[in-house]
Amino acid sequence: MPSHSSKPVSSAPEFHALSPAVHRASTILFHNTDDFLGRRERLFDGYSYGLYGTPTSRRLEDQVAAIEGGSRAILVPSGLAAVTHALLALCKPGDHVLAVDCIYGSTRNFANSIMKAIGIEVEFISSAANSLKGQVRPNTQAVLLESPGYYTMEIQEIAALARQAHEAGALVIIDNSFGFAVSNMFAHGADICCAALSKYASGAADVVMGAITVADEALFRQIKTFTAELGAGVSPDAAFLVLRGLESLQPRLKEHAERGLTFSKWLSAHPSVRRVLNPALPSDDHHERFERYFRSGNGLLSVRFHDNGLDGLRRMIDGFAHFRIGASWGSTHSLVSITRPAASRSVDDWPQDEYLVRFHIGLEEPKILLADLEAGIERLRGGKP
Ligand SMILES: *Cc1c(COP(=O)(O)O)cnc(C)c1O
Repeated sequence: MPSHSSKPVSSAPEFHALSPAVHRASTILFHNTDDFLGRRERLFDGYSYGLYGTPTSRRLEDQVAAIEGGSRAILVPSGLAAVTHALLALCKPGDHVLAVDCIYGSTRNFANSIMKAIGIEVEFISSAANSLKGQVRPNTQAVLLESPGYYTMEIQEIAALARQAHEAGALVIIDNSFGFAVSNMFAHGADICCAALSKYASGAADVVMGAITVADEALFRQIKTFTAELGAGVSPDAAFLVLRGLESLQPRLKEHAERGLTFSKWLSAHPSVRRVLNPALPSDDHHERFERYFRSGNGLLSVRFHDNGLDGLRRMIDGFAHFRIGASWGSTHSLVSITRPAASRSVDDWPQDEYLVRFHIGLEEPKILLADLEAGIERLRGGKP
C-alpha cells in the first residue's frame, strides 16, 4: 500500500556514498498549499517536477557549466537537441541565422526542414570563415559555428566572427561537442555553447544527452523557460551515467588525443593516404587556429585516401576486425565511418565523388589497431581480402 503522508521524506542522515545519488522523480512533494501554488518560481534553482530538474541533473549541470567555462547549463535529451533548442529559443518567424557549412548533418537537416517551415531563414557561410562582412542582416538573430567541422575539420576564426556578430546584435552559438573540456569558447566570444555529452563526457557509447551552457543569467532563464515549456528534460539515470563518465574524462581525453595524433602522423606518412584531416597535426591547414582555440585534440581524424573509389573503401571498411562501423564517437571503442562531404555542403567546394573516412581511435591495444588499419589499407589497394 502506498503511504498517504504528504510530508517530504528525509533521507538517512548518516549515509554518505562516494558516488552521487540518483534521484528518480516525476512527483516532487511540497510542504503546503502556498509552496505548491508558487512552484513555478523554482524552475531555475529549486525543484518542482522531475522534468525540470532533480539534484542529480542539477549536479551534472553545475559540472558541465564549470567545464565549459560558463555559469549555467541546461541538460537536454541529445547533443542535437542542444543546438536545435538553443536556436529555437532565440529565433522567431522572420529571423535570419548564419550557420557554417560544416555543421553536423542533423543540424543542417533541422535548418532546412523545421526552421524553414516556421519561417526562420538559415543561410550558410564558409566553414573556414574569418569574416561576416556583407552577410549579417538587421534580422540576423544568431550565428551558429562548429569547430572543427563535422568530418571536414575546418576551424573558424571564432573571435573575429563573434565580434562582428555582436556588433550586429546577433548572438553566437557554438556546437562545442569537439571542444568540450578542451576549450573555453566563452573567452573567445561565444554566448551559448552546445555540447553532445553522448561523446567523451559519458565515454561509453551508452547514453545520449546534450547540454546548453551560457555565461549570462538572463539568457539562461530565457533558454531554460523555453526548454521547460517544450517539455525537454533528461532522466536522472542518464545524468548519473554522464556524472560517472566525467570523473575520468581528463585522462581519457589525454590518451585519445595522444593516440589520435600518433595515428594521424602514421597515416600522413603512408603512401596510400592523400591527406589526413586533424587540426592537431602541426602540418594541418587549421593548426594555427587550433592552437589558439583548443588545449588538446582527441581521437578523431578523417582521411582522404588516394584510392577514392567506393568499392575499395568498402573492402577496407567492411573487413576491419577492430574498427567497428558506427556513428558517434568518444567511447573507449575504435570506430570507422564514411561520408561524401559534397552531399552535405552548400557553400564549400568539395568534389562530388570524394569520400572521407573518419576514424575514432579508441583505447584498445594500439599495436592491434595499427595492424587492423594496415591490413585495411592493403585491401583498399590490392582488392585482396
Ligand atoms: C555527436 C554530435 C552531435 C549530436 O549529438 P547527439 O547527442 O548524438 O545528438 C552534434 N554535434 C556534433 C558536433 C556532434 O559530434
